[in-house]
Amino acid sequence: MKYINTRNKSQSVSAGRAIISGIGENSGLFVPNEIPKISFDEIKMLAEQDYPYRAAYIMQKYLDEFKFDELLEFSKAAYGKFSGDAAPLIKIDENLYILELWHGPTLAFKDVALTMLPYLLVKSKEKNKDKTHTLILVATSGDTGKAALEGFKDIENTSIIVFYPTDGVSSMQKLQMMTQDGKNVGVFGVKGNFDDCQTAVKNVFADVKLNKEFKAQNIALSSANSINWGRLLPQIIYYISAYVDLVEQDQINLGDKINFSVPTGNFGDILAGWYAYKMGLPINKLICASNSNNVLTEFFTKGEYNAKRELIRTMSPSMNILVSSNLERLLFENSNRDDKLTAQRFSDLKEKSYFRIYEEELIKLKEIFFGVFCPEDDTIEEMEYFFEEYGYPLDPHTSVAAYCHKKYKKQTEDKKPTVILATANPYKFPQDVVYALTGDDVKDSFRACKKLHAHTAMEVPASIADLKEKPKRFEEVVKKEEIADAVKKFMQKINK
Ligand SMILES: *Cc1c(COP(=O)(O)O)cnc(C)c1O
Repeated sequence: MKYINTRNKSQSVSAGRAIISGIGENSGLFVPNEIPKISFDEIKMLAEQDYPYRAAYIMQKYLDEFKFDELLEFSKAAYGKFSGDAAPLIKIDENLYILELWHGPTLAFKDVALTMLPYLLVKSKEKNKDKTHTLILVATSGDTGKAALEGFKDIENTSIIVFYPTDGVSSMQKLQMMTQDGKNVGVFGVKGNFDDCQTAVKNVFADVKLNKEFKAQNIALSSANSINWGRLLPQIIYYISAYVDLVEQDQINLGDKINFSVPTGNFGDILAGWYAYKMGLPINKLICASNSNNVLTEFFTKGEYNAKRELIRTMSPSMNILVSSNLERLLFENSNRDDKLTAQRFSDLKEKSYFRIYEEELIKLKEIFFGVFCPEDDTIEEMEYFFEEYGYPLDPHTSVAAYCHKKYKKQTEDKKPTVILATANPYKFPQDVVYALTGDDVKDSFRACKKLHAHTAMEVPASIADLKEKPKRFEEVVKKEEIADAVKKFMQKINK
């Protein structure tokens, strides 16, 4: 199967090539030329299989140059790094379920894709006889950075540099990155917000001169952000897997439609849900849940994308994003693959922080997406409510999704079974969760963990407890104009 560029359809590459380069010419994104289908018979068949098998089976549909056995080996290795099942579905109430996606090594759903991506990348290079040194650049709003570092540390012929907004992530997220081990890793704080980091990294990709210099040194850039197709693909699986589990556990009948409520930032997670829908998974609505940075809520209501506003720092930092990159893939498909129009829109977004879509496009999008947002006060209240009502502690991101589903239900009176995607373990944000559950304002992260444990009896993950003793290796903070320089200097060090 070929992958085509959203800004220039005539660029068409193999899956392996799309994964190796991460991003297309002219900053376009790669999408599969055809979206494969999944039948009800296959859903029935998958009910008897474990998560790694489901993953290999579904990925194979998109990666025909890989053998099923190769993919199964990768998914067994990747999901073997999780504690227990990779994506367990928990029944919370009648027609209400939580899909726990945070059982991976770094305790956020990013692990589901970033434990897999290194295997896909290394194998893709092998298949393409590509002997370059891959330099992975990551902009992170908090969770991608750590998950990518863990995934790519000490992978041969690969280096990785992560940029995070120095005042824009939780203290636990920051500590996780600063203490990262591995010989091929670099981590920098950036004075600015996530959008600044993402733009600066995209500019490095587009920097012709720098790329030439790197090419002369046999270095090629790639991305572990969800602009890389290899990041999105593994996320399609858990939507299908959740549905399979609901059927298998007799919660729904095969063919019944369900909703997913997805806490959204860069639009990667929810776009994977849209691919599952296009494959034929019976989905009624994808609830696009935003925090106070509600650009997407406005977009799905009015068809206007307006990023001309201040980014608000919230307690769900991984969703503090104004420019949601993966929307580009959706708008490309939704415009019947009009690459020129897509290129125009995203160049407008870059230049003027604004574009709008046609009415008929919006109508089509509303058939499946429902945009809604959750203010800060409600994020706190929902955490408290959920714990009191169900005895289940939510992290702030998942709380946004839970609240948004409630709002959706009220507005639409739709009572269909709904799966809330739980994207992070509450211990990544212990202060905010403790505040929501007890009203106590605890400054120190580790004391907050203790409190949270005393209050909920939920186990403190070892990877969090261990952070306290780990030495900080990376404390450098750079300006956004210095990111390209930091990349160059880092590579000089690695090359020595
Ligand atoms: C990244 C992240 C999100 C948002 O996911 P996108 O794919 O960027 O939309 C939500 N919650 C958590 C905890 C995250 O780490």
